[in-house]
Parts: sequence; C-alpha cells; structure tokens
Amino acid sequence: MKELEKKIARKGLISEAVKKIAEKEGIDKEELAKKIAEGKVVILKHKDDVLGIGEGLRTKVNANIGTSPEVCDIDLEMRKLEVAEKYGTDTVMDLSTGGNIDEIRRKIIKTSNVPVGTVPIYQAVIESIENKGALVKMDEEKIFEVIEKHAEDGVSFITVHSGVNLKTIERLRKNPRKSLVVSRGGAFLISWMIVNEKENPLYKNYDRLIEIAKKYDLVLSLGDGLRPGGIIDSTDISQIEELLTLGELTKYAWENDVQVIIEGPGHIPINEIETNVYLEKKICNGAPFYVLGPVVSDIAPGYDHITSAIGGAIAAWKGADFLCYVTPSEHLSLPGIEEVKEGVIAAKIAAHVGDIGKGIKSEIEKDFIMDIYRAKRDWEKERELAIDKERFDKLRNKFTLKEKDVCTMCGKYCAIKIVEKYLGVKIFC
Ligand code: SF4
Repeated sequence: MKELEKKIARKGLISEAVKKIAEKEGIDKEELAKKIAEGKVVILKHKDDVLGIGEGLRTKVNANIGTSPEVCDIDLEMRKLEVAEKYGTDTVMDLSTGGNIDEIRRKIIKTSNVPVGTVPIYQAVIESIENKGALVKMDEEKIFEVIEKHAEDGVSFITVHSGVNLKTIERLRKNPRKSLVVSRGGAFLISWMIVNEKENPLYKNYDRLIEIAKKYDLVLSLGDGLRPGGIIDSTDISQIEELLTLGELTKYAWENDVQVIIEGPGHIPINEIETNVYLEKKICNGAPFYVLGPVVSDIAPGYDHITSAIGGAIAAWKGADFLCYVTPSEHLSLPGIEEVKEGVIAAKIAAHVGDIGKGIKSEIEKDFIMDIYRAKRDWEKERELAIDKERFDKLRNKFTLKEKDVCTMCGKYCAIKIVEKYLGVKIFC
C-alpha cells in the first residue's frame, strides 16, 4: 500500500510532493503540510509530477474531454488534450461514454502531462447496458470493479456520487425541482436506486471505496448529483441535502487519511455564489471546492464559457479552489477543438481574476508586470505574458501600423505616449 500523503502530513512530516508543490506555488512547506493534514489542500499525482489544490494555492482549472455515443473519435480527443494543455489546463477529466472506453482512458493517461480524472460510474453503467440490457440491471460489484480498474490505470482522481442516497430521493420527491437532475452520474444512480429499491452502493459501501482510495492514494471528488440544472433551482433543498451528506462523508474519508474534493454547482445566480462557497467550506470543514462554472445565467447558449467565467471568477475570489471549465458548446453539443480552447482560456481568466481577489501574490505580480510593459508599449513582452498569443498577434496586426510604439486604437493620439512626453515621466522598470 502506498504511503498516504495525508497521513505523512498528519505526522508532521514533509514529503517530496509537499516540497515540490510549495516551491511551485511559492509558499511555505510547513504551512502547506498543515493544510494537507487538515484536508484543506489535496495532492494530485501524475507520473513524476504533483499538483496541489486548495486553500492558499493558485486556483486550478479542469478541462473535460472524452467521447460520446454520438461522436467517438480518439484522435479528436487527443487533439483536445493537446489544446487544453497548451492553454494551461491544470487537469483533464476523461468523460468518455462512447467507443472503447478503456483504450481511450489509457491513451489519455499515457499522453497527458497533467493529472487525469474520471467518472467510473459512466463505464459501469454503459457496460451494464451493453451486457445486461439496462442500467438498472447493473451489479453493485461492477461499480467497484471499474473504480479499481481506473485506479490501477493511474487516474489521479475520480468523481463518485456517494452523497446521493435514498434520503435525497425522498427529499427530491417532496420538493420537486424544475430542472430535475442534470448530473449523469446522479441520474444513473437515482434511477438504479428507485428500480432496485436499494441504497446507492457508493454510499452504503463507502468504506469499500475508501479502501480502494487508500490503496492507490486516489483523491475522491465527491460529486454533486443533485446540482441545480438551472438557476431556477439554485441552492434548493435537494442540493443542500446532498451537501450535508458530503460533509459527513468527508469526515469519514479524513479519518482514513483519504484526500477529498467536494464538487459543487452548476447553475447559480451571481448573488448566491458567496453563500454556496461559504456553505461548502463550513459543512465540509474547509475541503477544497470544485465548481462546475458556476453558470450565472441560462439565456446565453453558445456563450456559456462567458457565463461560467463570470461565476467562476466570483467563486474563486470567495474561496473556490478548482474550476471546471465550461465551453461554448455547453447545453448544445460535444465540444470541438476550438470550443475546448475557448473554454480553457475563459476558465483560466476566471481563476486568475479570482486569485487577484484572493490575494495570491504570484498571480497579482503577473498583472503588475503586464501593466508596466503596457505603459512602455513593449509589445514583445506583452505578447510573452498574453494567455493567447495567436489572438494577440491577430489583433495587433489587424490594421497596418503607422507608428510601432502605439496601437491603431488611438495612433498618434496615444494617451500614454502624450503624457509620457509632456509629464516627462519614463517607465524604467
Ligand atoms: S494607442 Fe491608445 S490604446 Fe493603444 S497603447 Fe496608446 S493609449 Fe493604449
């Protein structure tokens, strides 16, 4: 059995992984180890690299890739992985539901330079439908077999919807919602529980899941099966009911030195984001919060990378630690390469904006440096710092430049240049 990072930190020791993360993030290693011991930071391992997610660290971004039953092209998914990495995603999740799922996952893990996450219930359900004719015929054993296979293959984290249980269904029935259930994992498990009149195996046999996580030092991302699918249902009884269960499951995982992330909404109006972050941190004792968006309006299909970046920036500022990107294809189709690029860039901007609000020094410094280069009209250096250099070039060179030390917005009336001349101030740094 692997030596668990949380256990090492709880003993007051500093592991190699902690040293590496502290150096990358520019923070004190003892302080980082304390947060890992407390469960406020998790360590994802991938090949020889490590990634920290949680309190006091730079906000991280995840990009979902993977096939669907409708669009199944491994090469396309590998190109999405390449683009997602190029624009700075910190992790990828393989959500494949079409084609040879084992082959796709293994290829993604082998190729990826960032930690890979999966949602094993997808594969368990798909194979049950293929072999037995219906998702509700899935054997409980199948779920754990698939989880162990993913762990063996080297995934760094898995989403498990352990917080959806029979009590949640009862609450859902008593308090109907308009957007029903939009989490695929949540929907699969709820259907299975209703037909089989049995408890969710990932809840009932949570200790078994914990044993697998311990064996592989696998980080559990406790899924939000009841996340609202529209702002009409935000912060409703079902969502909060599940969060309360996740709080209890977090404690049990920590007692066993298993690292946990909590997944969160979803569709939330801007004025409820702070409350949602507060509730997660309070109920789950500071466990890292992984939000999908949140999408702050439902009227902009085609632009949900923007609605989610607005929500993500505020969520990160208020304490969310990990943003799952949303692409312009959300609610419309499987994303293509261009949408993956736009989604990652939007989420990176949101995470960075949130980090400025959080006071992450290394992120604030990036803006300060850019501000100086901008004042100096040092286009080369500005380009180096730009998230999207191709777009920088395209727009900078859209019109013919008459003067190189200004841009075509104001040309010879460049405000900075005029003030520099008459005020007699030069930027020297
Ligand atoms: S020309 Fe106008 S927009 Fe361009 S750098 Fe100068 S002040 Fe800024």
